[in-house]
Amino acid sequence: MARHKTHYEDCDVLVVGGGMAGTGATFEARHWGRDMKIICVEKANIDRSGAVAQGLYAINCYMGMQWGENQPEDHVRYARNDLMGMVREDLGYDMARHVDSTVHMFDEWGLPMMKNEETGRYLREGKWQIMIHGESYKPIVAEAAKKSADKIYNRIMITHLLMDESQENRVGGAVGFNMRTGDFHVFRAKAVIVAAGGASHIFKPRAVGEGMGRTWYAPWSNGSAYALPIAAGAKMTQMENRIVLCRFKDGYGPVGAYFLHLKTYTQNANGENYEKKWYEQTKELVGEYIDHHPTPTCLRNHAFIQETMAGGGPIHMVTTEAFQDPHLETVGWENFLGMTVGQAVVWASQNIDPKYTNPELTTSEPYVMGSHATCSGAWVSGPEDLSPPEYFWGYNRMLTIDGLFGAGDTVGGSAHKFSSGSFTEGRLAAKAAVKYIEDKKAEGLKVSDKQCEDFKTKVYKPLETYTVAQNEITGGTVSPSYISPIQGLQRLQRIMDEYVGGIATNYMTNANMLKRGLELLAWLEEDLENVGAEDYHQLMRAWELKHRALTSQCVTEHTMFREETRWPGYYYRGDHMKLDDDNWHCLTVSRRDPKTGKFSMEKVPVYHIVDENEKKKAS
Ligand SMILES: Cc1cc2nc3c(=O)[nH]c(=O)nc-3n(C[C@H](O)[C@H](O)[C@H](O)COP(=O)(O)OP(=O)(O)OC[C@H]3O[C@@H](n4cnc5c(N)ncnc54)[C@H](O)[C@@H]3O)c2cc1C
Repeated sequence: MARHKTHYEDCDVLVVGGGMAGTGATFEARHWGRDMKIICVEKANIDRSGAVAQGLYAINCYMGMQWGENQPEDHVRYARNDLMGMVREDLGYDMARHVDSTVHMFDEWGLPMMKNEETGRYLREGKWQIMIHGESYKPIVAEAAKKSADKIYNRIMITHLLMDESQENRVGGAVGFNMRTGDFHVFRAKAVIVAAGGASHIFKPRAVGEGMGRTWYAPWSNGSAYALPIAAGAKMTQMENRIVLCRFKDGYGPVGAYFLHLKTYTQNANGENYEKKWYEQTKELVGEYIDHHPTPTCLRNHAFIQETMAGGGPIHMVTTEAFQDPHLETVGWENFLGMTVGQAVVWASQNIDPKYTNPELTTSEPYVMGSHATCSGAWVSGPEDLSPPEYFWGYNRMLTIDGLFGAGDTVGGSAHKFSSGSFTEGRLAAKAAVKYIEDKKAEGLKVSDKQCEDFKTKVYKPLETYTVAQNEITGGTVSPSYISPIQGLQRLQRIMDEYVGGIATNYMTNANMLKRGLELLAWLEEDLENVGAEDYHQLMRAWELKHRALTSQCVTEHTMFREETRWPGYYYRGDHMKLDDDNWHCLTVSRRDPKTGKFSMEKVPVYHIVDENEKKKAS
């Protein structure tokens, strides 16, 4: 172990992950904590890291309050509707009331915003989306973070949270390793903000083998945002609410600009509008939710999946009409060139010119995240002026561990934040984290050298395992005494795929399958003690896998707990096929005991704050 040098850094605010939420947190921490020491640690390079790395074509969350376009209440109703009622309205409202100020800063910082020539306003793509030339989006927000932080550490993967030894349930920092130098890094911090993105590749992806890595959600989002707090004993919420997306086939290019701006539409192989065919059947499952406007994302997926199972596929996006307009044709291509260049490459390789051929669509494998049309993540305190007592314990966006905050994909219950809302939530978390420190809540922290050394031994164990076990390799990478990260990953993905509602079963699962899935995940956990890594890159893969595996356990426990099919089209509980508002109009919350590794589950009321407040005002 001596060959891996240890570096110590003591700071006030530590931000884990420098994506959208992490850059927002780093920027805002400096605003409120002028004299504080602020450190941001990023697994990749902050200039091009996270889900926005390649760029985006639209900012998907902007109210437009200055022009009276939307109010935060409207956004709460929208997110609530899309998630079939299951959101934390305090968190959603809080994000929505601040998100416009974030977007105005992006504009000031030089992000090229498209303007409506007639009105001079930002060009709307849809009710919530505004269009940008967003190739430079990530470098721009990274610059704001770089100017704000005392130091940004790139290429360091955080593997564990440190806990305070003087007071129970209080965070003390985090540890990780640099995957280029191999050095071990200890960050002792008074407050930690986890902003490490969502989780792709926990379910077997459609693209395997030669196409592996081609997913809709960022392939490097490995669930650290969930595994770090779960391992430390923080509560999580709505982890069953994985997301499945309707995307262009094989390249997973987003469809938002196509639907909203180009006004393209979908049809089955016979040229029919298949969605209305499934109306009655969907109504049987979810009742009046199918009549809501806009149709919740999961229910549109449901029609797609049913139509394909009934033999109506392939489903196509009708682009050939819109693409006759040269302007729309340009927008259609630019949308991918600035955001998902792989989709344009796939079309070129498959001889698809959307002007003449309607491209095929597919439904993706499930992803776990908290910022899109989905709300998995940590159970956090809301803001003091909005949150009911069950949702409030002192500091906005603080998890159930003192001093540990979250933002973006990390935070559960608050869907439809997207890039701008995640940055905004980072700002909110940072403001609260600074206040927590100023209130002297982090006094007397004790993080012993022993705690750090113990983690160091754990972190490098896969290298030691490989060093010893490589002598027993029988052929290729096969060894009786270790498994490689890719072998472990594929095993995890099959368990999740086949037992927890992935593509293999058309998103279907039930209690028996979930129970079996949990057994297999427990054995995988045992075997991951023997994961081997031949170099520092593989060491990162080993820890990504461990974080994915822990996230998967939590997802499976939650899926088992909720005995209904709340979101048909995201997944189905075959043994409880209907939405059940009488018993399950509630949020699910879990906690894994760090000592025993056992999960406990509870139901927590879902409060519909916006309309309740309006009812009160009216009466
Ligand atoms: C293909 C695609 C298209 C999208 N389109 C849009 C759009 O058009 N408009 C829009 O507004 N939003 C869009 N989004 C959503 C938006 O990108 C996310 O909502 C947002 O990036 C979430 O922010 P985050 O900070 O939580 O995660 P991220 O931005 O992904 O940041 C997480 C960061 O944590 C780092 N990290 C992970 N693990 C560790 C670790 N263990 N240690 C240290 N660092 C770690 C990662 O490298 C990454 O930099 C899109 C997302 C995708 C994937």
